[in-house]
Amino acid sequence: MANIKFYSGEQVPLEMHKVRIVQKLNLPPIERRLAALDEAGNNTFLLKNADIYLDMLTDSGVNAMSDKQLAAMMESDDSYAGSATFTKLETKIRDIFGMDYFLPVHQGRAAENVLARVFCRPGSVVPMNYHFTTTKAHITVNGGAVEELIIDAGLEVTSDLPFKGDMDIAKLEASITRHGAANIAFVRVETGTNLIGGQPHSLENLRQVSKVCKQHGVLLVLDASLLADNLYFIKTREQACKGMSVREITRAIADLCDIVYFSARKLGCARGGGICTRSRDLYMKMRELVTLFEGFLTYGGMSVREIEAIAVGLEETMDEDMISQGPQFIKFMVDELNRKGVPVITPPGGLGCHLDALRFIPHVPQTQYPAGALASALFLVSGVRGMERGSVSEQRDDQGNEVYSNMELLRLAVPRRVFTLSQLKYAVDRIVWLHENRDLIGGLRFVEEPKMLRFFFGKLVATSDWQHKLLAKFRADLGDSL
Ligand SMILES: *Cc1c(COP(=O)(O)O)cnc(C)c1O
Repeated sequence: MANIKFYSGEQVPLEMHKVRIVQKLNLPPIERRLAALDEAGNNTFLLKNADIYLDMLTDSGVNAMSDKQLAAMMESDDSYAGSATFTKLETKIRDIFGMDYFLPVHQGRAAENVLARVFCRPGSVVPMNYHFTTTKAHITVNGGAVEELIIDAGLEVTSDLPFKGDMDIAKLEASITRHGAANIAFVRVETGTNLIGGQPHSLENLRQVSKVCKQHGVLLVLDASLLADNLYFIKTREQACKGMSVREITRAIADLCDIVYFSARKLGCARGGGICTRSRDLYMKMRELVTLFEGFLTYGGMSVREIEAIAVGLEETMDEDMISQGPQFIKFMVDELNRKGVPVITPPGGLGCHLDALRFIPHVPQTQYPAGALASALFLVSGVRGMERGSVSEQRDDQGNEVYSNMELLRLAVPRRVFTLSQLKYAVDRIVWLHENRDLIGGLRFVEEPKMLRFFFGKLVATSDWQHKLLAKFRADLGDSL
């Protein structure tokens, strides 16, 4: 956001946009929220929007669109093949990433399906800074394995390190040497690392990763879904990039990679996705899978209206005012919680504010899914829906043993340009109350557990009557408040 100093000295993030369309919200009473949790098996993915006050589940497909995006959607060119709308997006991609070949897909994971099918085979390895749920699922389903090479400090929950998403270069070299370059399907860098709290990588780190990849002749693939946030952090935290424009940083990133793919549910504030490359050879390898799984090459499963919106949204991502809104609101929330002693991931990242369940409720063991329990407890006391990003989001190994995640996080996404500061203050207030009453929170256990991506539809129950006790304490402290 623009550099505006308050005379009062107070520092709050100031919006560089105004609201022109609103949606009414509901806040059902806590008794109804408990019933809703019951129906949803304590899985926030299964809650109904009518029961939710602030939907902080995700930033996917729910970022506010601009007037310019909506206007562009009205003039989209709807044709199966050769749509002018597609050409607009292809041209924008060429302009921003400097990549001539663009394959449209219906969302980010569809790009991952294509990449994994083309490049992974049984025995292949994909070194990466950190995995994302759908990425790992596509790689493993095609017989590949993920190797996580994030710097050690990346997994420390509290830190003041500016780039916790960096890859460990020595580990990358060792990994390629150990497996042999021929067995490396590709190296993947996830910009704005989703599962470890939206933590960025630096441009310098990507340069080093790219250098190693070139030395060994392996492909470098960038998952650019969370690029907007990472661009903001490079611009504001990386000394060497202070003088570069957002556009120049974007181009410098793309120039280091062989393939850039993204979910346009995040990047570009619309709904869709794409795969970009400079190489005709790589394009030809992936092309037919797009027509097989997604749609013809000029829409890839997306509506042309969304394609128009992505083209405008990508251009808007080059505006520092636009990309700073999310990170600055998140920083406000993280700083407030941190000040009040609530364990949160620091430094503030992109995507959202992340509560550290292992420190919030240390008495709940990982076998009882602390992050899932915290998600359930917070919805109960606030109507705020977050997302479990802990062991429930992992899947069991081949022998059926639990794989416990490195971190147990409750992610409270802050979709871009959607919430007001007073809504964030409400969320902070309820989180602080919950923290003061944390001893009342208990664990969860599965009653329905799907094999794949169990976090989407698995159902759990409380291990005791702790939710009822929490409700009673809420009523005692807050009276008849919603
Ligand atoms: C959301 C996301 C994806 C998957 O994108 P979808 O559009 O949800 O399929 C992949 N990678 C990262 C880093 C993401 O955040």
